Amino acid sequence: MKYDVVIIGAGPAGLSAAVYARRAGLSVAVLEQNIYGGQIVNTPEVENYPGTGKTTGVELAMALYNQAAETGADILLEGVTEVKLTQDPKVVITTGGEYEAGAVIIANGAKRRHLGCKGEEEFSGRGVSYCATCDGAFFRGKEVSIVGGGNTALEDALFLANNCSKVTLIHRRDQFRGSKILADAVVVKENIEILYDSTVEEVCGGSVVESIRVRNKLSGEEKLLPVSALFVAVGLSPENSLFEGQVELSEAGYIVAGEDCCTSCSGVFVAGDTRTKELRQIVTAAADGAVAATAAARWMDTH
Ligand SMILES: Cc1cc2nc3c(=O)[nH]c(=O)nc-3n(C[C@H](O)[C@H](O)[C@H](O)COP(=O)(O)OP(=O)(O)OC[C@H]3O[C@@H](n4cnc5c(N)ncnc54)[C@H](O)[C@@H]3O)c2cc1C
Repeated sequence: MKYDVVIIGAGPAGLSAAVYARRAGLSVAVLEQNIYGGQIVNTPEVENYPGTGKTTGVELAMALYNQAAETGADILLEGVTEVKLTQDPKVVITTGGEYEAGAVIIANGAKRRHLGCKGEEEFSGRGVSYCATCDGAFFRGKEVSIVGGGNTALEDALFLANNCSKVTLIHRRDQFRGSKILADAVVVKENIEILYDSTVEEVCGGSVVESIRVRNKLSGEEKLLPVSALFVAVGLSPENSLFEGQVELSEAGYIVAGEDCCTSCSGVFVAGDTRTKELRQIVTAAADGAVAATAAARWMDTH
């Protein structure tokens, strides 16, 4: 099968790209290995996507899917297993077949790293969150905790401190990995308490999170911290080994691209969480999808 554009991933970035590519008159296949909608299907509430008001992740995923399907894009449940991007036409091999493409848009997202402690999965979406920007506002005026030691954890701790009555920042080492300027700001913030050399052992509660059990690694002492939420900020993991050697990847494994969503490989564009960027959200993923598809359409005009 041959398409003008093949899009890898049917999250907000991929589905938005499909709408823009179809409206530019291109034939489009979107290939998805798991479930339409991407990461947001795991989100009970979304409040910050412009225009939708309060909605659930599943509702938003369905709306994005329906809109893309109505444009006539072929949205197929097939995982991509191999790509040949440096040739023209490009070839995308999936669990279901082989596709030729004029241009390829990579929109395969990234995964939030988990802690792996007891109760984490059970309370996911019920007080355990992987995104302070997304969920911090749900805990306004409450006591919360955040775990991590990099820039994201430090930024999120400051963000949460402006919304919540108290923030306990838990870090497994005795020094932060994040920038000094952020660490200094966190240390002097009145309503942030820092527990160094500590790990979260268990998330406890009834229907929602009520406390976490924290262990000091040096003394072995454990304490129960009463909190309404645990924010996990221990990093994202992009899964871009498929593209290694064909498009430039950053040290952390993201596909290198600026706001124009162009990769180092001619005719290959990237959108959403999988690319190097500052803010990984639905709105920025959807915006990338629009930019990447428009760039792909322009590229098709001249090749
Ligand atoms: C728990 C949680 C809550 C969140 N809440 C919010 C919120 O309230 N507001 C907000 O703005 N953001 C929120 N986010 C972040 C938001 O979901 C992401 O920024 C957004 O989904 C990124 O979109 P994307 O399309 O780039 O990637 P994704 O949503 O990750 O979609 C990528 C898709 O590509 C597919 N894929 C990957 N590899 C392959 C392959 N080899 N072949 C085929 N398909 C592939 C994946 O299965 C996935 O469906 C939340 C994230 C999480 C985890």
